[in-house]
Amino acid sequence: MAGMNSEPYLSPGVAGATLTVDLTALSANFTKLKMLCGPAECAAAVKGDAYGIGARQTVLALHESGCRTFFVAQLGEAAEVRAALPHATIYVLNGLVAALAPAYRKMRLRPVLGSLDEVAEWSAYCRGCGEKLAAAVHIDSGINRLGLSAPDVDSLARTPEIRDGFEWALIMSHLACADMPDAAMNRDQVELFDELRVRLPRAPASMANSGGTLNGAAYHYDMVRPGIALYGGNPHNRTANPMQGVVSLASSVLQVRDVPAGGTVGYGAAWTAERPSRIAIVPVGYFDGYFRSTFRTGTDDPAGVFIAGAFAPLAGRVSMDMITVDVTDIASEKVHRGTKVELIGPNISVNDVARWAGTIPYEVLTALGSRFARVYSNPPLEQ
Ligand SMILES: *Cc1c(COP(=O)(O)O)cnc(C)c1O
Repeated sequence: MAGMNSEPYLSPGVAGATLTVDLTALSANFTKLKMLCGPAECAAAVKGDAYGIGARQTVLALHESGCRTFFVAQLGEAAEVRAALPHATIYVLNGLVAALAPAYRKMRLRPVLGSLDEVAEWSAYCRGCGEKLAAAVHIDSGINRLGLSAPDVDSLARTPEIRDGFEWALIMSHLACADMPDAAMNRDQVELFDELRVRLPRAPASMANSGGTLNGAAYHYDMVRPGIALYGGNPHNRTANPMQGVVSLASSVLQVRDVPAGGTVGYGAAWTAERPSRIAIVPVGYFDGYFRSTFRTGTDDPAGVFIAGAFAPLAGRVSMDMITVDVTDIASEKVHRGTKVELIGPNISVNDVARWAGTIPYEVLTALGSRFARVYSNPPLEQ
C-alpha cells in the first residue's frame, strides 16, 4: 500500500506506469494447479512479497480460492501473511532463526527446519514450553542448499530425545531441475527423498514447486508448493505456458521525436537510425526493473513493447527512467504523447521480457519497481 505522502504520486495517471495484478487470473491459476495435483493439497509459495506482486492481496485472494497453506522465506514475511490470515498454516522456508523460537510460537508459524542445529533448537524449545509445536523438516535430496543430509537423517533417527520433541507436520525436499521435466536428476531426487524419509517419523510429504507440480503424480506426494505458476510465469523452459498472465504493466508515451537517418539514440549511441525514424519515449527504465540487458543489437528476437496494436522494438539502451522505442513502422497518427504502451500484458508476457533480459520470469516479477501505480483487479473483501 502506498503511504499517505506518496499516494498522489503513485496514483494511475500520475505515476509513469501502472502495474495491474489480475487476482481473478491468480485464482484461476491456483484452481488449475489444485485440479492437477489431485488429492494432494495445493499450497502456495508467497515469499518475496508474493514474487513482488504484493503478499497481502495475493494471500487474501488465494485463501478465498481455497488455499490454506503458505510458504514464505523469512519471519518478517510470515508476520505479514499472519496479519492478513489469522487461521492459515504458514511455513518459514529459511527455517528457525537462532533464538527467535518464541516469535514463531507467538505467531503460530512453522519453521522449515533445515539443519540438525535447527531441529535440536526447536525440540529443546518445545520441551521448555511443554508443548509439541508443529514444524516441517527439510531433507536435502541433491540441491545442496538447505536441508538435512543423509548422515544428518541417520543421526536424527538415532536421537529420539531430539527427534520426538516436536510435531512432525511435514517432511519436504526441493527439486533442482523441475523446469526440465526430462532431467534425470528429478527422479534421482525422488528416490533419495523416499529412501531418507522412511527413516524418520511418519509425516505428510512435499517435493514439488511449480515445475514439479506439472511433472506428474510422482512429484505430488501430500502437498505441492507452486509459486511462479500462480503468478503466470511459465514453470517449464521450453514448452508453451499453460498458466494465465497475472501481471500487466502499462505506460504511456512521453513524446515522439524524429531522428534522421544516421542519428543515434541513447547512451553509448548504441542504436543508429538506418532510415528517417520516429522514436517514442516511454517513462519506464531500469529503476523500475525493466532490465538494461533487454536491449541487444543484432538479434532477430528484439525486446520491445506493444503500441497501437503493433510490436515496436527498443531503439537504444534502457535508461534509468525511460526506454526509447522505434515506432517508425506504425502510422504516425496512431502514436503520440499519451498513447498507451503495453510493456507486459496480453501481447507481451513476463516470460518474453525474461528471455530478452537473459533471465527468468521470477527475476522479472521480483524486480518490478516501487514507482508504479498498483492496481488489484477484483480483490476479495478484507477479512
Ligand atoms: C520458491 C520455492 C517454491 C516455489 O517455487 P516455484 O518454482 O516458484 O514454483 C517451492 N519450494 C521451495 C522450497 C521454494 O523455495
